Amino acid sequence: LFISFEGIDGSGKSTQARLLAERLEAEGREVVLTREPGGSPGAEEIRALVLQGDPDRWSAETEILLFTAARRDHLERTIRPALAAGKVVICDRFADSTRMYQGLSRGDLRGVVDALHDLMIGLEPDVTVLIDMDPAKGLDRALSRQGIEERFEDFGEDLQREMRAGFLALSQEYPDRFVVIDGGRDIDAVAADVAQALSAKTGG
Ligand code: C5P
Repeated sequence: LFISFEGIDGSGKSTQARLLAERLEAEGREVVLTREPGGSPGAEEIRALVLQGDPDRWSAETEILLFTAARRDHLERTIRPALAAGKVVICDRFADSTRMYQGLSRGDLRGVVDALHDLMIGLEPDVTVLIDMDPAKGLDRALSRQGIEERFEDFGEDLQREMRAGFLALSQEYPDRFVVIDGGRDIDAVAADVAQALSAKTGG
């Protein structure tokens, strides 16, 4: 079972991914909790290349190639082996983040993103949990967090709004695997909804 979490910065998706991992482990499942960009040693190196330093260093096209390279490594080293061993993989962001960030909101490159995905990745999650969140609230949360990556500083509310709309549009493009959860409530209420939506989707 392969589950991804998506959402704008500060949506709480990382917390929810962790809580779901803990819940499934408590039920006796073996879980690999991982993230993108990153999730394998090589992919974490690429993460640092892309998210730290001058954000204008790479063109949009180069950035797509770097994210895809990171995903390919993550897939080979972490995701596929875990799935083959029968584990549940929970991934904080996956290809939908690239469709959204590199494909929609930072240029008109969705076709390139999809072509590369088909060529080099070819895997979609069984379930994608979109934690939907009011952009102003998400931004407050993201900016108040420690260890923030430099890239956040460019993010304004308009951009966050655009990204929220982009993720919601993706959820309509792939209705079979997406569940949309209202992330603007307390953590436990959101976690309960995530768990319920997941069992509805997976029939367990
Ligand atoms: O999910 P996380 O907070 O670790 O994401 C770090 C940053 O990477 C976010 O600011 C997000 O906007 C950016 N990102 C991106 N393209 C992706 C995935 C993440 O620009 N494909």
